[in-house]
Amino acid sequence: MLSKKQITELKGQLDNRLLELRSEIKQELLTFDNEQYNQTAGQVHDIGDDSLVDFLIDINLAVINRHIQEVKDIEAALLKISEGNYGQCSDCDAPIKYLRLEAQPTATRCIKCQAEHEQSLHDTEAKYS
Ligand SMILES: [Zn+2]
Repeated sequence: MLSKKQITELKGQLDNRLLELRSEIKQELLTFDNEQYNQTAGQVHDIGDDSLVDFLIDINLAVINRHIQEVKDIEAALLKISEGNYGQCSDCDAPIKYLRLEAQPTATRCIKCQAEHEQSLHDTEAKYS
């Protein structure tokens, strides 16, 4: 079980990361807008470079999406803290070790279930590839 102090520390980490992510995403969206604008403006002189534009958009979107997913994970963790069931494995209900949460405060599974989960994802990928 996590102590109150440990939860407070992890919550502090989550809050900080959330603030950081919010400003990162804002910055990325601004850059993204600018790049799109510049690319579009550039196309007037250089028509036919669509694949490069698509490529840049894909990369930017992938980064932004990953950060947005992280925000969602953090918000889910903060919700759990407020509900009092933070640090509990979503698969087997076992308590997640503090060391694991310290490294990854958004973890929702204990190490054992996470490994099984990743293995099953891997198996699914292998099946369809
Ligand atoms: Zn578990």
